[in-house]
Amino acid sequence: MQDSAATTANSDSARDRAALIHPMTDLQRHDREGPLLVTRGEGVHVYDDDGNAYIEGVSGLWSVSLGFGQTRLADAAYRQMRELPSYHLFRHKSHPPAIRLAERLLAIAPVPMSKVFFANSGSEANDTAVKLAWYYNNALGRPGKKKIIGRIGGYHGITVASGSITGLARNHADFDLPLPNFLHTDCPSHWKYGLPGESEAAYAVRLAANLEALILREGPETIAAFFAEPVIGSGGVIVPPAGYFDLIQPILRKYDILFIADEVICGFGRLGAMFGGSLYGLAPDMITVAKGLSSGYLPISALMMSEAIWEACYAQSGKLGVFGHGFTYSGHPVAAAVALETLDLYKELDVLGNVARLAPLLQQGIRSHAEHPLVGEARGVGFLGGWELVADKTAKTPFAEPGRVGLMVERHCQARGVILRALGDILSTAPPLIATAPDIERIVEVVGEALDATLDDLA
Ligand code: PLP
Repeated sequence: MQDSAATTANSDSARDRAALIHPMTDLQRHDREGPLLVTRGEGVHVYDDDGNAYIEGVSGLWSVSLGFGQTRLADAAYRQMRELPSYHLFRHKSHPPAIRLAERLLAIAPVPMSKVFFANSGSEANDTAVKLAWYYNNALGRPGKKKIIGRIGGYHGITVASGSITGLARNHADFDLPLPNFLHTDCPSHWKYGLPGESEAAYAVRLAANLEALILREGPETIAAFFAEPVIGSGGVIVPPAGYFDLIQPILRKYDILFIADEVICGFGRLGAMFGGSLYGLAPDMITVAKGLSSGYLPISALMMSEAIWEACYAQSGKLGVFGHGFTYSGHPVAAAVALETLDLYKELDVLGNVARLAPLLQQGIRSHAEHPLVGEARGVGFLGGWELVADKTAKTPFAEPGRVGLMVERHCQARGVILRALGDILSTAPPLIATAPDIERIVEVVGEALDATLDDLA
Protein backbone atom coordinates (compact mmCIF):
# COMPACT_ATOMS: atom_id res chain seq x y z
CA MET A 1 0.00 0.00 0.00
CA GLN A 2 1.16 3.51 -0.74
CA ASP A 3 1.68 5.89 2.19
CA SER A 4 1.66 2.96 4.57
CA ALA A 5 2.55 3.95 8.12
CA ALA A 6 4.19 0.57 8.52
CA THR A 7 7.20 1.60 6.47
CA THR A 8 10.04 0.05 8.36
CA ALA A 9 13.68 0.20 7.35
CA ASN A 10 13.39 -3.26 5.89
CA SER A 11 10.09 -2.85 4.08
CA ASP A 12 9.96 -3.11 0.30
CA SER A 13 8.94 0.53 0.29
CA ALA A 14 12.05 1.63 2.17
CA ARG A 15 14.29 -0.64 0.11
CA ASP A 16 12.72 0.73 -3.06
CA ARG A 17 13.61 4.26 -2.04
CA ALA A 18 17.11 3.26 -1.02
CA ALA A 19 17.92 1.44 -4.26
CA LEU A 20 15.74 2.52 -7.18
CA ILE A 21 15.34 5.53 -9.39
CA HIS A 22 11.89 5.54 -10.97
CA PRO A 23 11.21 6.56 -14.57
CA MET A 24 8.89 9.52 -15.18
CA THR A 25 8.44 10.09 -11.46
CA ASP A 26 8.61 13.07 -9.13
CA LEU A 27 11.59 11.69 -7.24
CA GLN A 28 11.10 13.89 -4.18
CA ARG A 29 7.43 13.02 -3.86
CA HIS A 30 8.35 9.38 -4.28
CA ASP A 31 10.84 9.67 -1.46
CA ARG A 32 8.12 11.13 0.77
CA GLU A 33 5.27 8.85 -0.22
CA GLY A 34 6.84 5.63 -1.47
CA PRO A 35 5.66 3.29 -4.19
CA LEU A 36 2.45 1.42 -4.81
CA LEU A 37 3.86 -2.08 -4.61
CA VAL A 38 2.22 -4.24 -7.22
CA THR A 39 2.81 -7.91 -6.63
CA ARG A 40 0.40 -9.79 -8.89
CA GLY A 41 -1.91 -9.44 -11.86
CA GLU A 42 -4.87 -11.37 -13.19
CA GLY A 43 -7.12 -10.34 -16.06
CA VAL A 44 -7.70 -6.58 -15.94
CA HIS A 45 -6.63 -6.44 -12.28
CA VAL A 46 -3.38 -5.93 -10.46
CA TYR A 47 -2.99 -6.49 -6.72
CA ASP A 48 -0.85 -4.62 -4.25
CA ASP A 49 1.16 -6.12 -1.42
CA ASP A 50 -1.83 -5.81 0.91
CA GLY A 51 -3.98 -7.79 -1.51
CA ASN A 52 -6.03 -4.80 -2.70
CA ALA A 53 -7.31 -5.18 -6.28
CA TYR A 54 -7.12 -2.41 -8.87
CA ILE A 55 -8.50 -2.33 -12.39
CA GLU A 56 -5.48 -1.47 -14.55
CA GLY A 57 -7.26 1.23 -16.49
CA VAL A 58 -4.20 2.11 -18.60
CA SER A 59 -3.05 -1.47 -19.32
CA GLY A 60 0.16 -0.74 -17.39
CA LEU A 61 1.77 1.70 -19.79
CA TRP A 62 -0.79 1.24 -22.60
CA SER A 63 0.84 -2.10 -23.20
CA VAL A 64 -0.78 -5.06 -21.43
CA SER A 65 -3.55 -5.35 -24.00
CA LEU A 66 -4.42 -8.94 -23.13
CA GLY A 67 -4.49 -8.29 -19.40
CA PHE A 68 -2.45 -10.15 -16.83
CA GLY A 69 -2.09 -13.86 -16.22
CA GLN A 70 -2.32 -15.07 -19.84
CA THR A 71 -0.77 -18.47 -19.29
CA ARG A 72 -0.49 -19.07 -23.05
CA LEU A 73 2.10 -16.29 -23.18
CA ALA A 74 3.97 -17.74 -20.21
CA ASP A 75 3.94 -21.18 -21.83
CA ALA A 76 5.21 -19.78 -25.14
CA ALA A 77 8.09 -18.11 -23.30
CA TYR A 78 8.88 -21.29 -21.36
CA ARG A 79 8.87 -23.47 -24.48
CA GLN A 80 11.15 -21.05 -26.31
CA MET A 81 13.40 -20.70 -23.27
CA ARG A 82 14.01 -24.44 -23.34
CA GLU A 83 14.43 -24.64 -27.11
CA LEU A 84 16.63 -21.62 -27.79
CA PRO A 85 16.63 -19.11 -24.94
CA SER A 86 18.77 -16.51 -26.62
CA TYR A 87 20.27 -15.89 -29.97
CA HIS A 88 20.93 -13.02 -32.29
CA LEU A 89 20.48 -11.98 -35.88
CA PHE A 90 23.94 -10.47 -36.45
CA ARG A 91 26.26 -11.59 -39.23
CA HIS A 92 23.91 -13.90 -41.12
CA LYS A 93 22.53 -15.77 -38.10
CA SER A 94 18.81 -16.28 -37.79
CA HIS A 95 16.19 -18.27 -35.93
CA PRO A 96 12.62 -19.35 -36.61
CA PRO A 97 10.73 -17.10 -34.13
CA ALA A 98 12.20 -13.91 -35.63
CA ILE A 99 11.49 -15.09 -39.17
CA ARG A 100 7.92 -16.06 -38.34
CA LEU A 101 7.22 -12.83 -36.50
CA ALA A 102 8.61 -10.69 -39.35
CA GLU A 103 6.38 -12.58 -41.80
CA ARG A 104 3.35 -12.13 -39.57
CA LEU A 105 3.91 -8.40 -39.25
CA LEU A 106 4.34 -7.96 -42.98
CA ALA A 107 1.14 -9.94 -43.54
CA ILE A 108 -0.91 -7.67 -41.28
CA ALA A 109 0.78 -4.36 -42.16
CA PRO A 110 -1.87 -1.80 -43.09
CA VAL A 111 0.03 -0.73 -46.22
CA PRO A 112 2.58 -2.78 -48.18
CA MET A 113 5.80 -3.09 -46.22
CA SER A 114 8.96 -4.81 -47.36
CA LYS A 115 11.06 -5.74 -44.34
CA VAL A 116 11.00 -5.74 -40.55
CA PHE A 117 13.77 -4.67 -38.18
CA PHE A 118 13.43 -5.68 -34.52
CA ALA A 119 14.46 -3.73 -31.43
CA ASN A 120 13.50 -3.81 -27.76
CA SER A 121 11.51 -0.66 -27.13
CA GLY A 122 9.45 1.95 -28.88
CA SER A 123 12.27 4.45 -28.40
CA GLU A 124 14.75 2.18 -30.13
CA ALA A 125 12.38 1.53 -33.01
CA ASN A 126 11.93 5.27 -33.50
CA ASP A 127 15.68 5.89 -33.16
CA THR A 128 16.17 3.29 -35.84
CA ALA A 129 13.63 5.05 -38.05
CA VAL A 130 15.57 8.31 -37.67
CA LYS A 131 18.80 6.57 -38.59
CA LEU A 132 17.19 4.89 -41.59
CA ALA A 133 15.77 8.21 -42.78
CA TRP A 134 19.33 9.59 -42.70
CA TYR A 135 20.78 6.44 -44.27
CA TYR A 136 18.14 6.54 -46.99
CA ASN A 137 18.98 10.10 -47.96
CA ASN A 138 22.70 9.36 -47.93
CA ALA A 139 22.02 6.41 -50.22
CA LEU A 140 20.13 8.71 -52.55
CA GLY A 141 22.98 11.23 -52.57
CA ARG A 142 21.04 13.84 -50.56
CA PRO A 143 23.32 14.35 -47.55
CA GLY A 144 21.64 17.66 -46.66
CA LYS A 145 18.14 16.15 -46.28
CA LYS A 146 18.35 15.24 -42.61
CA LYS A 147 16.01 17.27 -40.41
CA ILE A 148 13.26 15.49 -38.54
CA ILE A 149 9.86 17.00 -37.80
CA GLY A 150 7.80 15.89 -34.80
CA ARG A 151 4.79 17.60 -33.27
CA ILE A 152 4.32 19.61 -30.11
CA GLY A 153 2.63 17.20 -27.72
CA GLY A 154 3.80 14.10 -29.59
CA TYR A 155 5.55 11.34 -27.68
CA HIS A 156 7.98 9.04 -29.46
CA GLY A 157 10.26 7.90 -26.68
CA ILE A 158 13.05 9.01 -24.53
CA THR A 159 16.41 8.09 -26.03
CA VAL A 160 18.49 10.94 -27.41
CA ALA A 161 16.96 10.84 -30.90
CA SER A 162 13.43 9.64 -30.09
CA GLY A 163 13.36 12.04 -27.14
CA SER A 164 14.20 14.81 -29.60
CA ILE A 165 11.22 13.88 -31.79
CA THR A 166 9.02 13.93 -28.69
CA GLY A 167 7.45 17.36 -28.37
CA LEU A 168 7.03 17.62 -24.61
CA ALA A 169 8.93 20.12 -22.49
CA ARG A 170 8.91 17.78 -19.50
CA ASN A 171 11.03 15.29 -21.43
CA HIS A 172 13.42 17.90 -22.79
CA ALA A 173 14.10 20.19 -19.84
CA ASP A 174 17.67 19.99 -18.59
CA PHE A 175 18.40 16.89 -20.67
CA ASP A 176 19.63 19.27 -23.39
CA LEU A 177 17.02 18.05 -25.84
CA PRO A 178 15.95 18.32 -28.54
CA LEU A 179 19.11 17.83 -30.54
CA PRO A 180 19.75 20.32 -33.34
CA ASN A 181 17.86 19.52 -36.55
CA PHE A 182 14.80 18.17 -34.72
CA LEU A 183 11.86 20.49 -35.35
CA HIS A 184 8.31 20.52 -34.03
CA THR A 185 5.16 21.55 -35.80
CA ASP A 186 1.76 22.28 -34.26
CA CYS A 187 0.00 20.15 -31.71
CA PRO A 188 -3.19 18.80 -33.31
CA SER A 189 -5.44 19.61 -30.32
CA HIS A 190 -8.33 21.57 -31.78
CA TRP A 191 -9.89 22.03 -28.34
CA LYS A 192 -6.73 23.65 -27.00
CA TYR A 193 -5.33 25.56 -29.94
CA GLY A 194 -8.29 26.10 -32.26
CA LEU A 195 -9.19 29.78 -32.59
CA PRO A 196 -12.62 30.96 -31.38
CA GLY A 197 -15.15 29.86 -33.99
CA GLU A 198 -12.57 27.90 -36.00
CA SER A 199 -13.96 24.54 -37.12
CA GLU A 200 -11.93 21.35 -36.84
CA ALA A 201 -11.64 21.29 -40.62
CA ALA A 202 -10.39 24.88 -40.71
CA TYR A 203 -7.97 24.11 -37.90
CA ALA A 204 -6.61 21.15 -39.91
CA VAL A 205 -6.13 23.44 -42.91
CA ARG A 206 -4.25 25.94 -40.75
CA LEU A 207 -1.99 23.22 -39.32
CA ALA A 208 -1.24 21.84 -42.76
CA ALA A 209 -0.38 25.36 -43.97
CA ASN A 210 1.90 25.84 -40.96
CA LEU A 211 3.65 22.56 -41.68
CA GLU A 212 4.20 23.57 -45.28
CA ALA A 213 5.47 26.99 -44.18
CA LEU A 214 7.93 25.31 -41.80
CA ILE A 215 9.17 23.02 -44.57
CA LEU A 216 9.62 25.96 -46.94
CA ARG A 217 11.31 28.07 -44.29
CA GLU A 218 13.82 25.33 -43.52
CA GLY A 219 14.11 24.26 -47.15
CA PRO A 220 12.49 21.00 -48.29
CA GLU A 221 15.91 19.77 -49.32
CA THR A 222 16.87 19.75 -45.60
CA ILE A 223 13.87 17.77 -44.27
CA ALA A 224 14.11 13.99 -44.09
CA ALA A 225 11.08 12.79 -42.16
CA PHE A 226 7.89 13.56 -40.27
CA PHE A 227 6.80 11.46 -37.29
CA ALA A 228 3.25 11.18 -35.99
CA GLU A 229 1.14 8.94 -33.79
CA PRO A 230 -2.33 8.38 -35.29
CA VAL A 231 -3.74 9.55 -31.94
CA ILE A 232 -1.24 11.10 -29.54
CA GLY A 233 -1.07 8.95 -26.41
CA SER A 234 1.33 9.97 -23.64
CA GLY A 235 1.22 13.59 -24.79
CA GLY A 236 -2.38 13.73 -23.60
CA VAL A 237 -4.66 11.53 -25.76
CA ILE A 238 -5.01 14.02 -28.59
CA VAL A 239 -7.30 12.98 -31.43
CA PRO A 240 -6.44 14.63 -34.76
CA PRO A 241 -8.94 17.13 -36.14
CA ALA A 242 -11.14 15.94 -38.99
CA GLY A 243 -9.25 15.81 -42.29
CA TYR A 244 -5.85 16.47 -40.69
CA PHE A 245 -3.87 13.57 -42.12
CA ASP A 246 -5.57 13.94 -45.52
CA LEU A 247 -3.98 17.38 -45.72
CA ILE A 248 -0.63 16.54 -44.11
CA GLN A 249 0.25 13.50 -46.20
CA PRO A 250 0.15 15.19 -49.64
CA ILE A 251 2.47 17.90 -48.30
CA LEU A 252 4.97 15.28 -47.18
CA ARG A 253 4.76 13.60 -50.58
CA LYS A 254 5.11 16.94 -52.38
CA TYR A 255 8.43 17.62 -50.66
CA ASP A 256 9.64 14.01 -50.68
CA ILE A 257 9.58 13.76 -46.90
CA LEU A 258 9.28 10.33 -45.31
CA PHE A 259 6.28 9.70 -43.10
CA ILE A 260 6.86 7.52 -40.04
CA ALA A 261 3.72 6.36 -38.25
CA ASP A 262 4.38 5.65 -34.60
CA GLU A 263 1.89 2.89 -33.78
CA VAL A 264 3.52 2.06 -30.46
CA ILE A 265 0.27 2.78 -28.60
CA CYS A 266 -2.28 2.76 -31.42
CA GLY A 267 -1.15 -0.53 -32.98
CA PHE A 268 -2.81 -3.90 -32.36
CA GLY A 269 -6.38 -2.85 -31.81
CA ARG A 270 -6.17 0.03 -29.34
CA LEU A 271 -8.26 2.31 -31.58
CA GLY A 272 -10.51 -0.47 -32.87
CA ALA A 273 -8.53 -1.33 -36.01
CA MET A 274 -5.42 -3.50 -36.12
CA PHE A 275 -3.40 -0.33 -36.83
CA GLY A 276 -4.64 3.05 -35.69
CA GLY A 277 -3.42 4.68 -38.90
CA SER A 278 -6.05 2.77 -40.87
CA LEU A 279 -8.72 4.94 -39.26
CA TYR A 280 -7.11 8.01 -40.79
CA GLY A 281 -5.95 6.65 -44.14
CA LEU A 282 -2.25 6.75 -43.24
CA ALA A 283 0.18 5.53 -45.88
CA PRO A 284 3.52 5.74 -44.07
CA ASP A 285 6.97 4.80 -45.30
CA MET A 286 7.85 3.24 -41.96
CA ILE A 287 5.74 2.01 -39.05
CA THR A 288 7.00 1.47 -35.52
CA VAL A 289 5.29 -0.87 -33.06
CA ALA A 290 6.08 -2.09 -29.53
CA LYS A 291 3.93 -2.42 -26.36
CA GLY A 292 0.93 -4.41 -27.70
CA LEU A 293 3.23 -6.46 -29.94
CA SER A 294 3.89 -8.72 -26.96
CA SER A 295 1.00 -7.42 -24.84
CA GLY A 296 3.83 -5.88 -22.83
CA TYR A 297 4.89 -9.30 -21.52
CA LEU A 298 8.43 -8.99 -22.88
CA PRO A 299 10.36 -6.07 -24.33
CA ILE A 300 10.18 -6.16 -28.11
CA SER A 301 9.56 -3.57 -30.81
CA ALA A 302 9.59 -3.57 -34.57
CA LEU A 303 10.10 -1.19 -37.43
CA MET A 304 8.41 -2.02 -40.70
CA MET A 305 9.84 -0.32 -43.77
CA SER A 306 8.75 0.24 -47.35
CA GLU A 307 10.51 -1.30 -50.30
CA ALA A 308 12.22 2.04 -51.05
CA ILE A 309 13.80 2.21 -47.59
CA TRP A 310 14.84 -1.41 -47.82
CA GLU A 311 16.44 -0.80 -51.20
CA ALA A 312 18.46 2.05 -49.73
CA CYS A 313 19.65 -0.18 -46.87
CA TYR A 314 20.56 -2.86 -49.36
CA ALA A 315 22.51 -0.46 -51.56
CA GLN A 316 24.34 1.20 -48.66
CA SER A 317 25.27 -2.12 -47.15
CA GLY A 318 26.72 -3.12 -50.50
CA LYS A 319 28.74 0.07 -50.58
CA LEU A 320 29.88 -0.01 -46.94
CA GLY A 321 30.21 -3.76 -46.54
CA VAL A 322 27.77 -3.92 -43.66
CA PHE A 323 24.39 -2.65 -42.50
CA GLY A 324 26.00 -1.23 -39.38
CA HIS A 325 22.99 -1.08 -37.07
CA GLY A 326 21.49 -3.58 -34.64
CA PHE A 327 20.89 -4.45 -31.01
CA THR A 328 22.09 -7.54 -29.17
CA TYR A 329 18.47 -8.43 -28.54
CA SER A 330 17.05 -7.48 -31.96
CA GLY A 331 14.48 -10.22 -32.58
CA HIS A 332 15.21 -12.00 -29.29
CA PRO A 333 13.71 -15.49 -29.73
CA VAL A 334 11.77 -15.58 -26.45
CA ALA A 335 10.29 -12.12 -27.00
CA ALA A 336 9.48 -13.06 -30.60
CA ALA A 337 7.80 -16.30 -29.51
CA VAL A 338 5.68 -14.38 -27.01
CA ALA A 339 4.80 -11.81 -29.67
CA LEU A 340 3.70 -14.58 -32.04
CA GLU A 341 1.48 -16.06 -29.35
CA THR A 342 0.13 -12.59 -28.59
CA LEU A 343 -0.87 -12.14 -32.23
CA ASP A 344 -2.59 -15.55 -32.13
CA LEU A 345 -4.48 -14.57 -29.01
CA TYR A 346 -5.62 -11.26 -30.50
CA LYS A 347 -7.27 -13.30 -33.20
CA GLU A 348 -8.60 -16.16 -31.08
CA LEU A 349 -10.02 -13.87 -28.41
CA ASP A 350 -11.47 -11.57 -31.08
CA VAL A 351 -9.93 -8.59 -29.39
CA LEU A 352 -10.87 -6.29 -32.27
CA GLY A 353 -14.46 -7.46 -31.93
CA ASN A 354 -14.41 -6.71 -28.21
CA VAL A 355 -13.11 -3.22 -28.83
CA ALA A 356 -15.70 -2.67 -31.56
CA ARG A 357 -18.49 -3.81 -29.22
CA LEU A 358 -17.41 -1.90 -26.14
CA ALA A 359 -15.70 1.24 -27.48
CA PRO A 360 -19.07 3.04 -27.72
CA LEU A 361 -19.70 2.28 -24.03
CA LEU A 362 -16.27 3.59 -23.07
CA GLN A 363 -16.49 6.65 -25.29
CA GLN A 364 -19.98 7.51 -24.06
CA GLY A 365 -18.78 7.00 -20.50
CA ILE A 366 -15.80 9.27 -21.07
CA ARG A 367 -18.06 11.96 -22.50
CA SER A 368 -20.58 11.53 -19.68
CA HIS A 369 -18.13 13.55 -17.58
CA ALA A 370 -17.76 16.31 -20.16
CA GLU A 371 -20.01 18.66 -18.19
CA HIS A 372 -18.09 18.23 -14.95
CA PRO A 373 -16.71 21.59 -13.76
CA LEU A 374 -13.14 20.25 -13.79
CA VAL A 375 -13.31 18.79 -17.30
CA GLY A 376 -12.35 20.99 -20.23
CA GLU A 377 -12.62 18.27 -22.83
CA ALA A 378 -13.53 14.58 -22.67
CA ARG A 379 -12.24 12.72 -25.71
CA GLY A 380 -10.95 9.49 -27.15
CA VAL A 381 -11.19 6.79 -29.80
CA GLY A 382 -11.64 3.04 -29.38
CA PHE A 383 -10.16 1.89 -26.08
CA LEU A 384 -8.21 5.11 -25.57
CA GLY A 385 -9.51 8.21 -23.86
CA GLY A 386 -8.83 11.14 -21.63
CA TRP A 387 -10.22 14.03 -19.66
CA GLU A 388 -8.44 17.36 -19.90
CA LEU A 389 -8.76 19.05 -16.51
CA VAL A 390 -8.97 22.81 -16.30
CA ALA A 391 -9.27 25.55 -13.71
CA ASP A 392 -11.89 27.39 -15.78
CA LYS A 393 -14.03 25.39 -18.14
CA THR A 394 -15.25 28.24 -20.32
CA ALA A 395 -11.97 30.09 -20.61
CA LYS A 396 -10.07 26.75 -20.84
CA THR A 397 -7.66 28.09 -18.24
CA PRO A 398 -5.10 25.54 -17.08
CA PHE A 399 -4.30 25.12 -13.39
CA ALA A 400 -1.69 27.42 -11.91
CA GLU A 401 0.42 24.50 -10.74
CA PRO A 402 0.50 22.04 -13.66
CA GLY A 403 -0.04 18.40 -12.75
CA ARG A 404 -1.25 18.90 -9.18
CA VAL A 405 -4.94 18.43 -9.88
CA GLY A 406 -4.26 15.60 -12.33
CA LEU A 407 -2.40 13.79 -9.59
CA MET A 408 -5.24 14.43 -7.13
CA VAL A 409 -7.77 12.82 -9.47
CA GLU A 410 -5.39 9.95 -10.23
CA ARG A 411 -4.97 9.32 -6.50
CA HIS A 412 -8.71 9.42 -5.87
CA CYS A 413 -9.17 6.82 -8.62
CA GLN A 414 -6.46 4.64 -7.14
CA ALA A 415 -8.02 4.84 -3.68
CA ARG A 416 -11.22 3.51 -5.28
CA GLY A 417 -9.46 0.61 -6.99
CA VAL A 418 -8.84 1.98 -10.49
CA ILE A 419 -5.39 2.84 -11.78
CA LEU A 420 -5.47 5.65 -14.34
CA ARG A 421 -2.68 7.90 -15.45
CA ALA A 422 -2.53 11.66 -15.22
CA LEU A 423 -0.39 13.15 -17.98
CA GLY A 424 0.05 16.51 -16.36
CA ASP A 425 -3.59 17.54 -15.99
CA ILE A 426 -4.96 15.13 -18.55
CA LEU A 427 -6.35 11.99 -16.97
CA SER A 428 -6.02 9.08 -19.39
CA THR A 429 -7.46 5.63 -19.76
CA ALA A 430 -6.57 2.72 -22.05
CA PRO A 431 -8.17 -0.40 -20.61
CA PRO A 432 -6.89 -3.84 -21.54
CA LEU A 433 -8.54 -4.84 -24.81
CA ILE A 434 -10.15 -7.80 -23.04
CA ALA A 435 -12.02 -5.54 -20.60
CA THR A 436 -15.72 -6.29 -20.15
CA ALA A 437 -18.66 -3.90 -19.95
CA PRO A 438 -18.67 -3.99 -16.12
CA ASP A 439 -14.92 -3.17 -16.07
CA ILE A 440 -15.52 -0.17 -18.30
CA GLU A 441 -18.55 0.97 -16.36
CA ARG A 442 -16.53 0.77 -13.16
CA ILE A 443 -13.69 2.86 -14.63
CA VAL A 444 -16.15 5.53 -15.76
CA GLU A 445 -18.01 5.50 -12.43
CA VAL A 446 -14.80 5.84 -10.43
CA VAL A 447 -13.60 8.74 -12.58
CA GLY A 448 -16.86 10.54 -11.77
CA GLU A 449 -16.37 9.95 -8.05
CA ALA A 450 -12.73 11.02 -8.24
CA LEU A 451 -13.62 14.22 -10.09
CA ASP A 452 -16.22 15.07 -7.45
CA ALA A 453 -13.83 14.27 -4.61
CA THR A 454 -11.16 16.46 -6.20
CA LEU A 455 -13.63 19.30 -6.63
CA ASP A 456 -14.44 19.02 -2.92
CA ASP A 457 -10.71 19.07 -2.07
CA LEU A 458 -10.26 22.23 -4.12
CA ALA A 459 -13.27 24.02 -2.57
N1 PLP B 1 6.07 5.92 -29.07
C1 PLP B 1 4.92 6.04 -28.41
C2 PLP B 1 3.71 6.50 -29.13
C3 PLP B 1 4.86 5.75 -27.04
O1 PLP B 1 3.72 5.89 -26.38
C4 PLP B 1 6.03 5.30 -26.39
C5 PLP B 1 5.99 4.98 -24.96
O2 PLP B 1 5.07 5.29 -24.26
C6 PLP B 1 7.21 5.20 -27.14
C7 PLP B 1 7.19 5.50 -28.47
C8 PLP B 1 8.48 4.77 -26.47
O3 PLP B 1 8.41 3.44 -26.16
P1 PLP B 1 9.38 2.85 -25.04
O4 PLP B 1 8.95 3.40 -23.73
O5 PLP B 1 9.15 1.36 -25.18
O6 PLP B 1 10.77 3.23 -25.42
